[in-house]
Amino acid sequence: MKRFETIVVGCGGMGSSISYHLSRRGARTLVLERFKLNHENGSSHGRTKIIRTAYFEDPRYVRLAKRAFQLWAALEKETGRRLLEVTGGLMIGKPDSPIVVGSLRSAREFSLPHSLLDAKELAERFPAFAASDSERALYEPNAGILFPDRCIEAYKEMAEEEGTKFHFGERVTRWEAGRSLVTIHTEKETYAAEKVIFAAGP
Ligand SMILES: Cc1cc2nc3c(=O)[nH]c(=O)nc-3n(C[C@H](O)[C@H](O)[C@H](O)COP(=O)(O)OP(=O)(O)OC[C@H]3O[C@@H](n4cnc5c(N)ncnc54)[C@H](O)[C@@H]3O)c2cc1C
Repeated sequence: MKRFETIVVGCGGMGSSISYHLSRRGARTLVLERFKLNHENGSSHGRTKIIRTAYFEDPRYVRLAKRAFQLWAALEKETGRRLLEVTGGLMIGKPDSPIVVGSLRSAREFSLPHSLLDAKELAERFPAFAASDSERALYEPNAGILFPDRCIEAYKEMAEEEGTKFHFGERVTRWEAGRSLVTIHTEKETYAAEKVIFAAGP
């Protein structure tokens, strides 16, 4: 039975990122993905994904998002590839809506660059949007888009350079935790690992 320090199940945005960071820590890692690289069946699929820091959901995300921007910049530098494009981002809603109240709270609490636009200012600066008079827009100039296929590919290639193994088209069917090792069964083989990280999707 082939043995690894760590097995990562899934090679979407999360699994590929985990594989990269494990490779930087020198862990002997195997990544098992049931489909091909950058397939269309997972959450990470798509031409672009939004990245922003003024999280309306909760200000606790802000530190994580700021760190993510730093890490994407570092990966861009390391690979020489363009992974992120700053476009600016708008959160549009009623002044008392969770999206406006929440993103404003995060922006103010963490002194993030932002401006609060009324409908007229929004129409002047961003004519593609026609908000109603009572709506407001939180504009975050540093928000942008990521290119997920490129990001996943970059992570995979960097991890591979450090010796991480990737098996595509190999679905994990079951696993058992033993005293010191975890056994992972796929449709093709059985592996043992000291640690298993499931990144099989949200
Ligand atoms: C339509 C849509 C739009 C989104 N837009 C944004 C956005 O703009 N900004 C943003 O930040 N987030 C966005 N998200 C959320 C973000 O895309 C997800 O949080 C993220 O992609 C999750 O990545 P993941 O690696 O956890 O999951 P996935 O990308 O789903 O990866 C999981 C992987 O595990 C594999 N897998 C599953 N089971 C097995 C198994 N048994 N054996 C082997 N492999 C297995 C799958 O094939 C898959 O490749 C969006 C999500 C969706 C669906």
